[in-house]
Amino acid sequence: MNINATLVNLYHVCKRECWLHANGVRMEHTSEVVYDGKLLHEISYPQRAEKHTEIELSARLSPKSKNGKEITLYGKIDFYDARNKIIHETKRSDKVENAHEWQVKYYLWLLKLNGIDHVSAILEYPLIRHTSHLDLRETDEQYLEEVVIKVAELKDGEECPPVIHTKICKSCSYYELCYVDEE
Ligand code: SF4
Repeated sequence: MNINATLVNLYHVCKRECWLHANGVRMEHTSEVVYDGKLLHEISYPQRAEKHTEIELSARLSPKSKNGKEITLYGKIDFYDARNKIIHETKRSDKVENAHEWQVKYYLWLLKLNGIDHVSAILEYPLIRHTSHLDLRETDEQYLEEVVIKVAELKDGEECPPVIHTKICKSCSYYELCYVDEE
């Protein structure tokens, strides 16, 4: 069972969206979550390109999920400043900032699971001039371990979770799919 940062992010936005994405249902890319933060970062911070590297990481998680399948964690960090041990993650809007924070903390955890400790992160919203500084706490690691197990169980579940009826639905790529019977 593979889990990645997008699923961790979506789990905090909407369980239904997480399930749809995890099960390969893809709609047009209009969603806030899937907006290309990498492109926005390159446009907003062109001077940083040489200092940052892209890294891909993976780690096996023990304990396993309740269904007995081993969980493998994956993550691709677009902008890692190895010299200063800082991840830069760029987003368009802070409407789902909590989900963004857990995505970034997942990267920090994945780095730690790969032996790269004491990394911090900067979550940047250049369009609204907002920045958050994040570190990984011990309680975050425990929480993330619980979350990835729950995401694995959600992904494996046969039933798609219900529509959540919140403001975020309007900017979600699955909006038409979720509200087709209500229009
Ligand atoms: S439209 Fe709303 S309920 Fe449907 S997947 Fe998106 S956020 Fe979830």
